[in-house]
Amino acid sequence: MVVEDGQIVERGNFRADAESHRGPGGKAKWYERAKKLDDALQEALRDNLPVRVIINDGNRRKPGDPKAKASVVLKRELDPEPWTIAEYDWNTGAHVLKRGILPTRFVDQFDIEQSEKADPKKRDQRGSVFVRDPRVRSIVKERSQGRCEYCGELGFKMVSGATYLETHHVVPLSEGGADTVFNVVALCPVDHRKAHYSHDHIKLREELLKVLEQLEPSQP
Ligand SMILES: [Zn+2]
Repeated sequence: MVVEDGQIVERGNFRADAESHRGPGGKAKWYERAKKLDDALQEALRDNLPVRVIINDGNRRKPGDPKAKASVVLKRELDPEPWTIAEYDWNTGAHVLKRGILPTRFVDQFDIEQSEKADPKKRDQRGSVFVRDPRVRSIVKERSQGRCEYCGELGFKMVSGATYLETHHVVPLSEGGADTVFNVVALCPVDHRKAHYSHDHIKLREELLKVLEQLEPSQP
């Protein structure tokens, strides 16, 4: 645990920890424990749950040293404050946890889809045909600060404390639209549906293009 910009942050990778205990010479109990922690993070993301953390104080085992003695826990306490999963890489298992419910965490439909796809029960579902750059979506979500870039309404607050909006390609990828921040907007769910299905969606598209034109040209 470290302090970054006045915030208590924990960075790690339970999946990698589990792998390091797998195989001959590895401790099956530690493998299971790390695996369960990784599963718990995935479950929290899938089911939109806040995370509770038990903080251990004591002497931590040296990671990476197979002969190191087991950690000794002198004190163990449930943190009364919930934590936020600020980042989680579904491919590698790398995570960043931050203490408290972060008001600036923005979630879109693809974050939810991605977590559902990683669900073993749903893993055989086909994903979307077009690959979207997660960095573009992330910049757009930050740019919106949780407000619909069309109507200005704040997205709804999720159980986890995150703010929900949907990212939308103004010129669709299927029509050759670019996957850049100049073609992607964050919309409230109603305006997103309208952008696709409203009788005047063409007019809406033109208005969204105007919104994008007015953005700072310095953005990547
Ligand atoms: Zn809206």
